[in-house]
Amino acid sequence: MRFTGRRGGASSGPYRSLNLDSWGDDDPQAVRDNRTVLAGYADVGPERIAQARQVHATDVLQIADDADLPGADLGRVRDADGTATALPRTPCVVLCADCVPVALVAGRGVAMVHAGWRGLAAGVLESGLRALDAVCSGSGPVTAAIGPSAGPCCYEVGDEVHAALAGTGSSAASAPRVGGHADLWAAARARLRAAGVEHVLTAGECTICAPDDYFSYRRDAGTTGRQAGMAWLR
Ligand SMILES: [Zn+2]
Repeated sequence: MRFTGRRGGASSGPYRSLNLDSWGDDDPQAVRDNRTVLAGYADVGPERIAQARQVHATDVLQIADDADLPGADLGRVRDADGTATALPRTPCVVLCADCVPVALVAGRGVAMVHAGWRGLAAGVLESGLRALDAVCSGSGPVTAAIGPSAGPCCYEVGDEVHAALAGTGSSAASAPRVGGHADLWAAARARLRAAGVEHVLTAGECTICAPDDYFSYRRDAGTTGRQAGMAWLR
């Protein structure tokens, strides 16, 4: 798996430089070049990227064969907040700029899930685990990795977000509230552990406090790029 930052790409201005969002306002050729860089990390071409258009809901697509592949690079658009596959050389990708990219890795399958506070509260991680199980049933325990995203240091939210996250996991205490700040990483860990995932890694990198390293929708008031979470089988 790999979580990207903003360095090492072809885009400029607010999208400097490894912006991977095909549906934004960045220069399309720069984004294509950047997506070739992304796919290259998995040693494939961008047409192999399994990525849906994210809608802050809970569907996670099962990619059972090449005909299921969604992706901007193929001109195929499907709405979902993650993908799961047991196909080799088919990287599952989500894009984020503060929301939480979560990789789920089992013995013979992988999934990537896009989890903002709405998705976390609605059960997108559990949906990702079900999709992963469906594509590679019985392939052993799942390891999860929580990528760079809005951290508890910076993620100040209103009461409705605290209320939604307090309903996640086994108890309100599982999504700690630090003043007006919410802890999406703790909320994600609580949901994963409640679903039986014992091994959860957390990058602990906050996108909002690292302007040289990460895109942040909140810090940049919406005009910014997107970094990726990517999980794949060789
Ligand atoms: Zn921060």
